[in-house]
Amino acid sequence: MYDVVIVGGGHNGLVAAGYLARAGRRVLVLERLGHLGGLAVSARVFPGVDARVSRYSYLVSLLPSRIVRDLGLGVELRRRRYASYTPSGATGLLVDDGDPARTAASFASVTGGEDAFAAWRRFYAMTAHVARRVAPTLLEPLRDRGELRDLVGDAEAWRDLFERPVGEVVAERFGDDLVRGVVLTDALIGTFADPDDPDLPANRCLLYHVIGDGTGDWKVPVGGMGAVTGALADAARAAGAELRTGMEVVAIDPGGEVTFRDADGAEHAVGARHVLANVPPATLARLLGEEAPAPPEGSQLKVNMVLARLPRLRDAKVAPEEAFGGTFHVNESAARLAAAHAEAAAGRVPALPPAELYCHSLTDPTILGPDLRAAGAHTLTLFGLHMPARLFRADPDGARAEALRATLASLDSVLAEPIGDCLLRAPDGTPCLEVKTPLDLEEAGLPGGHIFHRDLTWPFAEDPAERGRWGVETAHPRVLLCGAGARRGGGVSGVPGHNAARAVLAR
Ligand SMILES: Cc1cc2nc3c(=O)[nH]c(=O)nc-3n(C[C@H](O)[C@H](O)[C@H](O)COP(=O)(O)OP(=O)(O)OC[C@H]3O[C@@H](n4cnc5c(N)ncnc54)[C@H](O)[C@@H]3O)c2cc1C
Repeated sequence: MYDVVIVGGGHNGLVAAGYLARAGRRVLVLERLGHLGGLAVSARVFPGVDARVSRYSYLVSLLPSRIVRDLGLGVELRRRRYASYTPSGATGLLVDDGDPARTAASFASVTGGEDAFAAWRRFYAMTAHVARRVAPTLLEPLRDRGELRDLVGDAEAWRDLFERPVGEVVAERFGDDLVRGVVLTDALIGTFADPDDPDLPANRCLLYHVIGDGTGDWKVPVGGMGAVTGALADAARAAGAELRTGMEVVAIDPGGEVTFRDADGAEHAVGARHVLANVPPATLARLLGEEAPAPPEGSQLKVNMVLARLPRLRDAKVAPEEAFGGTFHVNESAARLAAAHAEAAAGRVPALPPAELYCHSLTDPTILGPDLRAAGAHTLTLFGLHMPARLFRADPDGARAEALRATLASLDSVLAEPIGDCLLRAPDGTPCLEVKTPLDLEEAGLPGGHIFHRDLTWPFAEDPAERGRWGVETAHPRVLLCGAGARRGGGVSGVPGHNAARAVLAR
């Protein structure tokens, strides 16, 4: 009999295991795959190429320093000097946090005026204020809406982030289409939404992208995402948790019995006082034998690449090392985002897909072997927006090929040379490029290919019964969520893992 069995060894499951084992609980983690980490892993994706790519998630913002301290994690999260670069014709918008004067000049040259940078600073000063107030509450029992509003203590910020569609707010605050788009991307990552939707799905997405750890900074995990997971697994093991891979849970009884299948196909059962589900809510329902909720719909195209060299830019004033040192936005003006959303909503792969790229190895070269490093090779990750699962259902392979073709053409449209010419070739001659659609992720076990397990939720109790609870509870007292599908879940945060552990320890 265990105190706690954790179903799934993603990063949240490992956070929960670490806290519970440190509190003296007997903990077993059962992971279906042959490795831990779920969507927070590094892999040598291209045979014979010594590059450890963060295969799914790649940047960290939402992981609270408190969890890093509590669990004694030896992870280094490195800040990037360049926030973003957005090409526009033969020039581009560079946000260089190390040089405000250069950033101001870049805003002025792209927008033709002085106002945009001032509006930008006002907007992000507002989100920074909200971040400082809201981030610490993510590790506390849920407040209700009014309590969180009082804590935020800024009527304008509350209205603009929590009550009015972000599309409307951005249109009002920013006159320039390109700048509007750069702000809106954070509201649309992994979220197929119209920023003007009155149900505010894009607002919730924006909120989680600007409040991480009280700053909203997105940092590079040194060693890649696998290093974060490795540190979490080490911490859980050192505290006494038992971590078993290659064990697929096939049923959960609400009374606490968990049935799992080992790599040889043999079934086993274990009992526990509490079962924590690191799996998505739709998977949990299936394991409980309950009717699954409609699967969520993921919306992204992930392309992992290794380059022999960084591509040349059209903009002579910005070096590729600067442009790719932060987030590199491609065809993400507000108008382009809206057009892509409309095309995808009509069932078509967008003609000019919006996407953003980032080069891990510029900030942290340790993920490359010495030969690749010496040769000037780099990793490049592309995250494509407005690629909902529905586009891929009828013809998964054909639509994947079309989405990739359109996305690379979209990228090429802003470069001075085709990205294809820059790709490194593996020893077998194949270019180093892999692509994952939402359906690829669904096939790998992620319902709907939704990167947050389900649509993001407000960080407050929406139902009076939730107030004072942890946002991890289910209809069964012994079964709790401890994954991205919990309230305040989504992203590499460890928050649901922490909160599930606190909920167990409070009992
Ligand atoms: C392409 C992509 C890019 C992303 N980029 C970022 C990013 O840059 N930054 C960020 O913060 N977030 C990002 N995310 C989101 C983030 O990765 C996830 O929200 C987060 O990692 C989820 O963690 P988790 O521990 O809750 O669940 P998961 O990582 O999904 O882990 C669940 C675990 O349960 C296991 N499992 C499933 N079924 C069973 C079963 N029956 N029995 C046993 N085990 C089972 C799975 O194998 C998995 O290991 C990205 C996601 C994707 C897909």
